[in-house]
Amino acid sequence: MSVKTICVYPHAALREPTQEIILFDEELKKLVSDMWETMYASDGIGLAGPQVGVAKKIAVIEYDGEKYVLINPDLSEKDNFTTVEEGCLSFPGIYEKVESPEYIKVKYYNEDGELIEKEIEGFLACVFSHEIDHLNGKLLIDRISPLKRQFLKKKLAKQAKEK
Ligand code: ZN
Repeated sequence: MSVKTICVYPHAALREPTQEIILFDEELKKLVSDMWETMYASDGIGLAGPQVGVAKKIAVIEYDGEKYVLINPDLSEKDNFTTVEEGCLSFPGIYEKVESPEYIKVKYYNEDGELIEKEIEGFLACVFSHEIDHLNGKLLIDRISPLKRQFLKKKLAKQAKEK
């Protein structure tokens, strides 16, 4: 297993279109274990492929002691929108209040290629939605008001300069 480098906004990998996963092979298992390792190393609760420079439809989530590997996920319903504070490993140290669904209906494959269909409620639904957004190139910064976005961009540019 190895810890991968997390792409921080505005890294181009975060916007790259993702490909479906076709082979459920050893290489995929290796990628999944690297993603767990990387997520744990940064104390995250979710990590999507583009965040580690892998333009594939894959994300991992651990919440409330349960682990989920989402492959080729398809969100068919989002509902019960509420305001929650979200963070993202690609925006280190940033937390923003955003509208997020507390109800989703989702289909995905796990790492063994089994199809899973679920309805999820509460904060876990927000986490699923956040990770699936990553697979469509949609980021936390896209979900805040234009004014806040401008402010955040300046702050991030300043942070990058100080590094
Ligand atoms: Zn994120």
